[in-house]
Amino acid sequence: MENRFKVINVTPRGFCKGVYNAIELAKQTRMDYPNEKITILGELVHNKDVVLALKSLNIHTIESKGKQRIDLLDDVLEGIVIFSAHGISPLVQIKAKNKGLKTINASCEDVLKTQDLINAYLEKDYDIFYIGQLGHPEAEASLDLDLNKVHLIQIGNELPKIDSKKIFVTNQTTMSILDIKNTIESIQTIYPYAIVSDEICSATRLRQEAILKLPESVDAIIIIGDKSSNNTKMLAKISRNRSIPTIIKIQNLGELDPKLLDQCHELAITAGASTPKFIIDEIVHFVNAYAIDPQIDKKDYSIHPFI
Ligand code: SF4
Repeated sequence: MENRFKVINVTPRGFCKGVYNAIELAKQTRMDYPNEKITILGELVHNKDVVLALKSLNIHTIESKGKQRIDLLDDVLEGIVIFSAHGISPLVQIKAKNKGLKTINASCEDVLKTQDLINAYLEKDYDIFYIGQLGHPEAEASLDLDLNKVHLIQIGNELPKIDSKKIFVTNQTTMSILDIKNTIESIQTIYPYAIVSDEICSATRLRQEAILKLPESVDAIIIIGDKSSNNTKMLAKISRNRSIPTIIKIQNLGELDPKLLDQCHELAITAGASTPKFIIDEIVHFVNAYAIDPQIDKKDYSIHPFI
């Protein structure tokens, strides 16, 4: 039988180094402290399957939508607390130490680099324009570096009015490259003297650029990733900017409605930086088989544990 539609595997996709390192650090912590209670403050990376896999190692996650890390910490009473890949506020680190908790920091080095830059400009008495998302843990950690001098700029919102000529502009690492470019240009029209450092991480940039480079003939894209993953959401946003007619966002094979593929001619498949490879693989295997035979059953493409 011939393929009914073409499948394009977008690369890179799936785990970035920051996610990989955070998971390895959590696993190593369990090996180093086999009898200690280990708690992750917020999801280690934004993926429910990763959270479940860590639970199977007796590493528990505390997360509550809308609750900041500093408040989540109230529920950690003993043992080891792991800070997630998104970075952590200095206020949370101090509170954890004061509670007598042992701390392990799984912050991604790209997030730490942005925080170091912000600290360096704060020391020189700059105001910081931080382009990010209200409530995202990475933004929360950066804003906490100085609640008076770090100003959150949300996409599409009005810019703050600042008299100082000392302004440093930077951003959350997982934003849309197009949004960041436009927002930086807007800031520069009002504050032409602002110093700018675009800190979108290379994992986020490369995954978004790969979508922008897809052939015009691509008429559908599957984006695999957790609903709470910002870099995954941005892949969908870039696909909309790129005007791909059918955008299918799923967390796993179970969520895929194969009928959505029946009308497409060229289908691209990508995944956010916190999506485990086994989830991507099972979807890719299924879709390639479905392109040939629409009678196949999703149930035959099983999920395997990865941790
Ligand atoms: S998406 Fe970027 S900032 Fe986030 S963990 Fe991965 S490499 Fe680090």
